[in-house]
Amino acid sequence: MKIALIKGDGIGPEVTEQALKVLYAVSERFKCKFEYREALLGGRAIDETGVPLPDETVDICAGSDAVFLGAVGGPKWDGLPGNLRPEAGLLGIRKALKLFANLRPVMLFPQLRTASPLKAEVLSQGFDIMIVRELTGGAYFGEKKRVETKDGIKAWDMMEYTSREIERIAGIAFGIARKRRKRITIVDKANVLESSRLWREVTGSIMKDYGDVETAYMYVDNAAMQLIRNPGQFDVILTENLFGDILSDEASMLAGSLGMLPSASLGASKACLFEPIHGSAPDIAGKGIANPLAAILSCGMLLKYGFGMEKESDAVLEAVNNALDKGYRTADIMQPGMTLVGTEKMGSIVAENILI
Ligand code: NAD
Repeated sequence: MKIALIKGDGIGPEVTEQALKVLYAVSERFKCKFEYREALLGGRAIDETGVPLPDETVDICAGSDAVFLGAVGGPKWDGLPGNLRPEAGLLGIRKALKLFANLRPVMLFPQLRTASPLKAEVLSQGFDIMIVRELTGGAYFGEKKRVETKDGIKAWDMMEYTSREIERIAGIAFGIARKRRKRITIVDKANVLESSRLWREVTGSIMKDYGDVETAYMYVDNAAMQLIRNPGQFDVILTENLFGDILSDEASMLAGSLGMLPSASLGASKACLFEPIHGSAPDIAGKGIANPLAAILSCGMLLKYGFGMEKESDAVLEAVNNALDKGYRTADIMQPGMTLVGTEKMGSIVAENILI
């Protein structure tokens, strides 16, 4: 299985090294082989080739079975024009691979309960949510325009969806719900938005093929509130691009640290993209203190959603749980009485846990 490897900038290479250690341990234990091809993207690509997304990177990624990305960006490149900034590389590769479904699991590791800003009684049941966000439609990609009017400038961003776009993301979300706790909450604003009403119509007919999955609709304002009030009620949340952007960032805080959260972006081509949700964290880059668990858990997602390797993916999750059970913590999740470790040590502990 070929994996395109984009280490990226800042802490990207540091956490990617640890994820690779874990994948190596997986290949040892389960006797499978991964072949890596390194590609440049973001800041390093700008420094070495002058552009944030070299053509060669697109070719390497498109020709691989999965893409793993550390993180890109940093202050060094902030002054560049928009189309030459590292983020343009990120948007470009998502577009080139036609990635339309963003999966963000947000779960509470019981060992990290006190790292969450929520009260203990809200967390008593724990939570394990999978947010499925549509990634290529809605207001971010609809028509954008400004016109002069007698009341000043008028601007709009069209929130538009086709039934085809809704069908394909709903198919992914219902499929995931079926393999989890069989509950899906479709988040929209159907009381005021026509595009949301289309989402209801289309998902309503898809639902019929998934009779075993319990489906509910929830308005986005209520969903934002319910995530804080009672996160344990959710299994899979399916929503459109803009709502998903906001809700997934809100939900990421519930887990306590950005350093714990993986993500996957699935699309029309065979190569899907797996990356921690955090950025390049320039404030801690090079210090050896970044939490590698989000990157490691992203590899777990790569195994499951990229290669269909469920038991290998479960082994990664279990190894992370074991490391936390044994009291190992990086600085961002440190608690009194626990053992503080750096990036490398945490990676080694998880890798060792895979092999025992
Ligand atoms: P960030 O996620 O890099 O950092 C936010 C805060 O979280 C920082 O204090 C950082 O130290 C901390 N943090 C992040 N990851 C951590 C980890 N693994 N362990 C411990 N602490 C961690 O967000 P930012 O500071 O807004 O952005 C920095 C750069 O990253 C910017 O250039 C931004 O454009 C880029 N970025 C890239 C991606 C990506 O590559 N997908 C995503 C978000 C931001």
